[in-house]
Amino acid sequence: MTPGLADQLRGLGLTHGSGVLVHSSLRAVRPVEGGADAVVDALLDVVGEEGLLVVPTFTYDSERFDGTEPARTGAIAEAARRRDEAVRSMHPTYSVAAIGAGAEGLCRDHELRPGTDVDTPLDRLASSGGAVLLLGVGHVANTTVHVGEFHANAAYLTIPFDPSWPREHVVAVSPSEERRVGYDRFPGCSRSFGLVERGLRARAAVRDGKIGGALVQLIDSRAIIDETVELLDEDPTALLCTDPRCYRCSRARELLKRG
Ligand SMILES: [Zn+2]
Repeated sequence: MTPGLADQLRGLGLTHGSGVLVHSSLRAVRPVEGGADAVVDALLDVVGEEGLLVVPTFTYDSERFDGTEPARTGAIAEAARRRDEAVRSMHPTYSVAAIGAGAEGLCRDHELRPGTDVDTPLDRLASSGGAVLLLGVGHVANTTVHVGEFHANAAYLTIPFDPSWPREHVVAVSPSEERRVGYDRFPGCSRSFGLVERGLRARAAVRDGKIGGALVQLIDSRAIIDETVELLDEDPTALLCTDPRCYRCSRARELLKRG
């Protein structure tokens, strides 16, 4: 454990019993003595046994998933996933790992719905008063904005991020049971998600800090969802990027124009 790190996390407002989803870049936080594991230790020390640490362990385009696949969301997320006490949801593309009180309930049946749908782990975290920690990453990594898109029932969620990604998946929920799953809506492009920050600040939902070498924000999860819904209510194209090569966003604009 690195005491300095834990103190910095407490300074942001994290405390015993907090539920927190951590999006992170170890490279941005460096140098940290002890590396990714020291960051995980510090987070667990701060939230305690009554708290809940959640990390994204997304695999994005996996066709078959048995829960042992490495996270493609950075070294800190992967270090948390590898902990003995970590529970991982069985979503084939948008799984999370959780450590602490309520981890099982948070992860339960994730594979039955689109990855960031209403009543999936990140939404459940928001419902229980949780927060999002952006540790050296920006809002482009803030997956809870996708949850807001599902709350808003955005029309473009039917368009996949990448049409070449598999549409059907096999989930090995146990060594003896496989489940075939497919989805009709998808979390997509997040390149324009920086737009939510101004509204979140206006809501006083952001706490700023610095941890190691990284700028960090701690944000109320529910506020992220509410802000996203409000943005999309005003302008359904608000969170689409403007890169004409982006499959999802260019098709989403066409779809909304046809309205
Ligand atoms: Zn895009």
